[in-house]
Amino acid sequence: MSGSKPISFADFRERKLKKQAEETLPGVLVWLYCPTCNIIEYTEVVAPNGRTHHCGTLVQESEVQVDFRAEMTITERNLKKIEILLQENQKFRLKKLLARSLDKVLINLKNTEETYLQRLQMASSYQATPYPEDFETLKEKLPIKEENKVGLFISEFRYAPEKRFVKE
Ligand SMILES: [Zn+2]
Repeated sequence: MSGSKPISFADFRERKLKKQAEETLPGVLVWLYCPTCNIIEYTEVVAPNGRTHHCGTLVQESEVQVDFRAEMTITERNLKKIEILLQENQKFRLKKLLARSLDKVLINLKNTEETYLQRLQMASSYQATPYPEDFETLKEKLPIKEENKVGLFISEFRYAPEKRFVKE
């Protein structure tokens, strides 16, 4: 087009970065249920031909479409919240016993979130990054199902996985 301004590289780059910042990264995670052991766990490994638990039972599988970036954003925010709670708990030195048991709970939660983050990284071949925007702005758009008692956000994928399976 004559008269049109040539696209500046800076503009192009800016638009590309903005697009990248907003792009979802869809993928699949799988909930597994062994009716014999009554164990439910998730995996990032999709197995179209099914798989057998170490007890010998064929496990029930429920594949779920997720946005790896959304899951990661929620998880990183949960980890930040846990850090704040751990620091706050340091102040309650007088109630030592209670503080110690709360510490244990928080550390367990931290491990759970960190494991999930690692699984998301593996599932996305280390391509997933959290959304850069402020969490409060993002909150409405994220697949958050519930805020639990300690203030952690539970994504739709992680919410009540037992409901995905019919108990025999
Ligand atoms: Zn089993």
